[in-house]
Amino acid sequence: MRNRHFMENKNYVLAAGVFLLVICIITLSLHVLDIYNIFYKNACEALEGHTETALAVLESRISRQREATAWCGENIMQGAESDIGAILKEATDDNELYEYFYVSPTEITYYANGNIRKNDNYEKLNQIYGFEYKNNFVSVIQEGVNKEGDTVPYLYGVYPVRVEDSGEKGYVISASEVENLFGEDSFNYLTEIGSCCIVNRTGDILLKDSGFAKEIGPEANFYVSMENRSNQGRGIKSALTKIKTAIPNEAGGSVTYKAASGEETYVSYHRIDGTREHFLVISFNDGILDDMIHAVMLRSFLVGLGVFILMGIILLTIWTKGENAGNIIRKLAYEDEVTGGKNLNYFKRAAAEIIRENKEVPFIMYRFDILNFRYINEAYGHKKADGVLTACIEEFKHFYSKNELCVRINSDHFVALVINDLSVNQRYQNYLKSVGEKAREIGVRYPIRLRVGMYQIHKGDRDIDIMIDHANVARKSMTGNEKSLESFYSDRIMADMKKVNEIESVMQSALSKGEFKVYLQPKWDIVNDCVVGAEALVRWIRDDGSMVYPSDFIPIFESNGFIEKLDFYMLETLCETMHRLEELDEYILYPISVNQSRILIINPDYVRNVEKLFKRYETAVEKLEIEITETVFFDEKEKMLDVINNLKALGVTLSMDDFGSGYSSLSILKDVPFDVLKIDRGFVTETANSNSSIIILQKIIDLAKSLGIDVICEGVETIEQVDNLRKLGCEKVQGYYFGKPMPIEDFLEKFCRRDEEY
Ligand code: C2E
Ligand code: MG
Ligand code: MG
Repeated sequence: MRNRHFMENKNYVLAAGVFLLVICIITLSLHVLDIYNIFYKNACEALEGHTETALAVLESRISRQREATAWCGENIMQGAESDIGAILKEATDDNELYEYFYVSPTEITYYANGNIRKNDNYEKLNQIYGFEYKNNFVSVIQEGVNKEGDTVPYLYGVYPVRVEDSGEKGYVISASEVENLFGEDSFNYLTEIGSCCIVNRTGDILLKDSGFAKEIGPEANFYVSMENRSNQGRGIKSALTKIKTAIPNEAGGSVTYKAASGEETYVSYHRIDGTREHFLVISFNDGILDDMIHAVMLRSFLVGLGVFILMGIILLTIWTKGENAGNIIRKLAYEDEVTGGKNLNYFKRAAAEIIRENKEVPFIMYRFDILNFRYINEAYGHKKADGVLTACIEEFKHFYSKNELCVRINSDHFVALVINDLSVNQRYQNYLKSVGEKAREIGVRYPIRLRVGMYQIHKGDRDIDIMIDHANVARKSMTGNEKSLESFYSDRIMADMKKVNEIESVMQSALSKGEFKVYLQPKWDIVNDCVVGAEALVRWIRDDGSMVYPSDFIPIFESNGFIEKLDFYMLETLCETMHRLEELDEYILYPISVNQSRILIINPDYVRNVEKLFKRYETAVEKLEIEITETVFFDEKEKMLDVINNLKALGVTLSMDDFGSGYSSLSILKDVPFDVLKIDRGFVTETANSNSSIIILQKIIDLAKSLGIDVICEGVETIEQVDNLRKLGCEKVQGYYFGKPMPIEDFLEKFCRRDEEY
């Protein structure tokens, strides 16, 4: 039951852990998607930025070329023919990037090094310029032959010159190799994430970077290239149409389409200012992003994995710590440290569950304690006494099934749930016997007796607390002196409990109304046959005149603490009476003893209060005797001895009451300075039929005498008993034979008149 309860909690923790983990995985996935989108967006933005930069660098180069070419043209127009070579050289020296030459209207080419050649560049010029005179400078990219004789792409700039004299046209041409244009810094980013090319209005690819073929295809025309692959991807055709419409209109733009590889391809095209309808085309696909993202994802994944592992470790730690904490809490919550068994908390839960799950099984609730356990504790020490408690739990397991359980509630109190089958009584007897044997094994020879209150659980019963309470009522109904120490909860017991409640509800007012009366019972000297004292015994005379005996209310007052008030009231009444008698001088004042309970004596103010009483009533202290029982010394013996010594210092006589009634030990006579030993009625009764009792009594009387302690035997009812006791050396007795407890006035009249002898 307990485990199931704990497991439920454990499952909640596990579910929470898994839930958290799932949340983490979802968050991480969304996070990665975000990274991808951000990357794509950033890449597009970065691409645009880099494109603009590259375009600006390219255009400024073209613009510089135009200026230098125009400068040459202007000077040639104004200068003499013989100056042409020098002008070209100056321009060339100024800017190493370009070489300049001049093609005259007569198709003679002038070079910067001073060479002049006919028709040398006319063909090229034709291609570039189409012999059509144009006023504008124009740049074109076109193949040319370099100094090493290799055909390479050139950026040509052509500036038209009108010769002043003839009005005919000539052209200054500047040329620079652009094969490595895309290798320049400004194109680094673009060529890294994609590829670049320069196309003219008909889509001819004039210049391309090394990765271009991979990106676009091997074709020499961009349009053809796209067209060829238009069936392999998606959206290529419409992208091409858009480009084809835009470029002739000299408009830039961008398109996207899905390439055959499935990758998203992004193409942007930009008019290059200063050229004759040349466009810079940049293309990239998200495959490159994938590579980058994979790197980031790998990093994220590793970080995520690290976090998961960490979380796992933390969870595991919390789990095991939780398990340990759970064990400790469970221990505290459900286990009993003294017996190693379970506790009441556990019992209540488990018993409720057992009853619920076994509706057809008749159960009994036991509520028991060990008789005189205090004495066991005192006499054998805590360790052995604890051993007895443990035996009660351990032995239970041997006689009862798994659906029956027993736990210790506190001190020597236990509760058990047992099945009411045919063997229930036998099993209880066997259990009890076994506990006794176990106790003897550990050195406790005092007989173990359990006082068991039982409650038969009915079908409708649900509340475990009530069941335990009922069993407890049955237990409390036994004083411990009964023959049988097993009692079933019954209506009678409940009625008794009601009586207790009733007594408790009126005791206070009864005390203030003076309903508690002091009765006196004579103590008799059987050697000289005369009265020698009296014992004060309380009687409760109710409103209606009925008398209640101490046995009906003293145990109740002892358990609820009211005895403290009653005993002090008795003591005070006695002091007052003695004072009055002394004043009267009419009566002989015999010593009177009064019973004082432990709960009163243990009060730290007790001795001081007694002293005050004595002073107030000018009591003849030596005439007052205080009776206490041995149980007074069960706890805090040292403290009790202090009180006793202080009392004796006041001059009070101290009697030990009921010696031999329970578990009296002779050692108490050694430890406590008693003046009188009152031997219990039970001993006196037994002298009639038990020889051993006579021997023991004889020894006790001898022992007391030799210790200087007065002996008085209680409960003497017959002349035979008087004779027997006299023979044993007993000199004083108390009993019905000489007088029952009676009102003070009766006692005085009967035994204390000065003029009469008794
Ligand atoms: P106890 O102190 O041992 O008092 C003696 C009891 O024995 C008295 O019972 C008395 O009536 C009874 N008794 C005396 N002679 C005989 C006899 O020959 N035969 C029989 N069968 N009984 C005899 P009681 O008055 O009923 O008191 C019972 C117990 O209640 C007392 O026993 C004492 O322990 C307690 N008690 C009585 N009055 C007080 C009191 O004021 N304060 C306290 N704390 N306890 C009291
Ligand atoms: Mg007494
Ligand atoms: Mg007594």
